[in-house]
Amino acid sequence: HKYVYDFSEGNKELKDLLGGKGANLAEMTNLGLPVPPGFTITTEACQAYLATGREPDGLAGQIEAHLEALEREMGKRLGDPQDPLLVSVRSGAKFSMPGMMETVLNVGLNDQSVVGLSAQAGGNDRFAWDSYRRLIQMFGKTVCEVPGEEFEHALDEAKHAKGTHNDLDLDAGDLRGLVDAYKKIFLKHTGREFPQQPREQLDLAIRAVFESWNAERAVLYRRQERIPADLGTAVNVVTMVFGNLGPDSGTGVAFTRDPASGAQGIYGDYLANAQGEDVVAGIRNTVPLQELEQLDKASYDELLGIMARLEGHYKDLCDIEFTIERGKLWMLQTRVGKRTAAAAFVIAGQLVDEGLIDLDEALHRVNGAQLAQLMFPRFQLDHEFQPVAKGIGASPGAASGTVVFTSARAVELAAEGKSVILVRRETNPDDLNGMIAAKGILTSRGGKTSHAAVVARGMGKTCVSGADEIEVNVPAKRFTVAGQTVTEGDVVSIDGTTGKVYLGEVPVMPSEVVQYFEGSLDPEHIDNALVRAVHRIMTHADGKRRLAVRTNADTGLDAARARRFGAEGIGLCRTEHMFLGDRRELVERLILARAPGEREAALAALLPLQRADFEEIFREMDGLPVTVRLIDPPLHEFLPPLEQLAVNVAVAQERGEDVAKEEALLAAVRRMHEENPMLGLRGVRLGLVIPGLFAMQVRAIAEAAVSCARGGGVAKPEIMVPLVGAVQELETVRAEAEKIIAEVVGDSGVEVLIGTMIEVPRAALTAGQIAEAAEFFSFGTNDLTQMGWGFSRDDVEGAFFWRYLELGIFGISPFESIDRDGVGRLVRIAAEEGRAARPGLKLGVCGEHGGDPDSVHFFHEVGLDYVSCSPFRVPVARLEAGRAVV
Ligand code: PEP
Ligand code: MG
Repeated sequence: HKYVYDFSEGNKELKDLLGGKGANLAEMTNLGLPVPPGFTITTEACQAYLATGREPDGLAGQIEAHLEALEREMGKRLGDPQDPLLVSVRSGAKFSMPGMMETVLNVGLNDQSVVGLSAQAGGNDRFAWDSYRRLIQMFGKTVCEVPGEEFEHALDEAKHAKGTHNDLDLDAGDLRGLVDAYKKIFLKHTGREFPQQPREQLDLAIRAVFESWNAERAVLYRRQERIPADLGTAVNVVTMVFGNLGPDSGTGVAFTRDPASGAQGIYGDYLANAQGEDVVAGIRNTVPLQELEQLDKASYDELLGIMARLEGHYKDLCDIEFTIERGKLWMLQTRVGKRTAAAAFVIAGQLVDEGLIDLDEALHRVNGAQLAQLMFPRFQLDHEFQPVAKGIGASPGAASGTVVFTSARAVELAAEGKSVILVRRETNPDDLNGMIAAKGILTSRGGKTSHAAVVARGMGKTCVSGADEIEVNVPAKRFTVAGQTVTEGDVVSIDGTTGKVYLGEVPVMPSEVVQYFEGSLDPEHIDNALVRAVHRIMTHADGKRRLAVRTNADTGLDAARARRFGAEGIGLCRTEHMFLGDRRELVERLILARAPGEREAALAALLPLQRADFEEIFREMDGLPVTVRLIDPPLHEFLPPLEQLAVNVAVAQERGEDVAKEEALLAAVRRMHEENPMLGLRGVRLGLVIPGLFAMQVRAIAEAAVSCARGGGVAKPEIMVPLVGAVQELETVRAEAEKIIAEVVGDSGVEVLIGTMIEVPRAALTAGQIAEAAEFFSFGTNDLTQMGWGFSRDDVEGAFFWRYLELGIFGISPFESIDRDGVGRLVRIAAEEGRAARPGLKLGVCGEHGGDPDSVHFFHEVGLDYVSCSPFRVPVARLEAGRAVV
């Protein structure tokens, strides 16, 4: 079995086998670019090692053979005392993964070959001993788990003894002393001498890379990112080239375009006389890549030529790492580079202009999550504002406000109309009220799946988590950061997209992308590369997609906005939202009515109000379908809370007041009280229990449609019955509704469809029967998820989801992204059986999942006709529906 590939044997398509880094090194080698020779040990070798706990048969021999070939090519032998070949050992999985071992440099150095290296470097003792101490440090830390601080500490001591802060002031003698100190540290922690055999160094480093696949942080990362646990990592063994051989050497990183804005040009950093890790460690300041032109014009020109070539070859933004060794350029790595959301759109547009990719490919290269990011307002940052800390962008948005440290204070100040930022080390379920009251949440601990992050995302609230430079002291009501103290009442600004934290109030500017969707920026007439690219790609997505996109809206205002955002109708108008505010009392009267007269009076008062609501919505959605859902309130949302009412009555009685009315209300609330209202008298059940309620709504809808038609408009109402679990429920409602509709529409030409939500698992499983009585289905995936999993949608996020996410039980909340295997299966069954019973049955979805990128792809695959989502999500759904096709 072949476990080792020379760089010349691979290519960029072999990422599964060679990992990302190895595949790209091979690709560059075959393009004829100057890559230091080397070979890649495959992920299959790693898998075999992890399965059995030992290197697979044949691996050692293959490494030997490839090493010999390398030695022949370089004319040197690994660790040769006179003229040593040195190699680096680098991990490289298919996906880059924090927590895995990354690199050991200078493998092959020992007490003898360090002398040879010096001689070969023209008697540069300093360089040789510096290289040796780096090997012991990296090898000790990453291969043998020696605590890195011990090495750092010894280095600091050496500098202190010399009276300097700069590594470069240490001479050969100092570094030689440091090597001795490092060896002692190594011996102390490992119980053995630092290995002197070059091949043993190599084998141990390779094994350490294999084992790092199962490092705790790597395992957790994979679980959360849904990366399969059995892929394994490849290992690259690469000839060392040195950027630290003098002023004519150096190292750098570069991007073929600006990864922040997407602008064309060369972006990068260069550090003379240094190795790559110095750049990462930030020991000395890098200079902009352009300055290399003055330092070494030949290498600079060659580098630019290579970058242009790589872009043309990969047809995308590439990032690269390179080293210059005494005026000779070497390419150490390339890959298709990460970029911001704005850059993703801009670059995709540019590459189409340049003829490198077509619009389908451009659509492929952007996504709904990026578009959603671009729709948040952003901080307007000039030089005045420098971040004081950077955490994890846990929930996007830009928020400024007064700092508070407790939930209670957050609630207090918010009630006074202040914007507050709740600052905690981490949050827990007790902080929920404060989180609701706050404009944003900032924590010093915890990642993307911490309690704060999960709950904030669920609320759509800006959150930065894990900003660990911040030292939070809740009892003292202050935090310190970068030597400054921030106390309660000071203002901070947090960016939930970038994770950056600023002191003071940073001005916020509206999203240009939203302005474009709103119609206030004309892409043809403004000089804005982002807006033009978004316009172009959205237009293409609209032309490609099969799924229609509707919106969830219950006011004319929302309907109008969603229409501007591209909604092709309303998929869910939640009528219970029309019963809040002043009208709540009417509903209360209706629900509590005991005599038919009382009830009819309440209904008669509601009818004209409802009719006006629908007229407004039909007007805004003129010509487009509007799905109106009959009332579906969990009753407890409309009635006064039982305990509160009981207390009020008791207090009033105590005072001797007349409480006859309150007592009647209390009795009624007691009578209607439910322990579990979400599973109680909701939806169709309510319609069947309270005579005349659904009838009133149906009449209001039909009358509004007729009035629209008379005014010259086109109303296309679709009446939707919620929470149906059995066809008999629907048939009962339908019979009554049809009579009313026939009576109201007469010969006005108005057509009214009647359909149902599929949101109770039983409805999904009996969809064939239900379809007999329904002209359309709309999947209510919120309730379907709630009842499918048995998770209370109102309680779980703060209670235990964060833990489930941390443990990787699921990678994302099933209320956010459809659970394809379980809840999705119910959707699939209902779609198939519904259509089998009634060909042409119209199918849509109106749960929150309708605006979630991955879920949109699922609904496309299942063959739904449309998705419906909140107005702001409409563009995201349009884009993803297009992406689902290409
Ligand atoms: C649903 O359950 O998915 C739905 C859209 O209805 P609601 O969220 O109003 O319960
Ligand atoms: Mg529902």
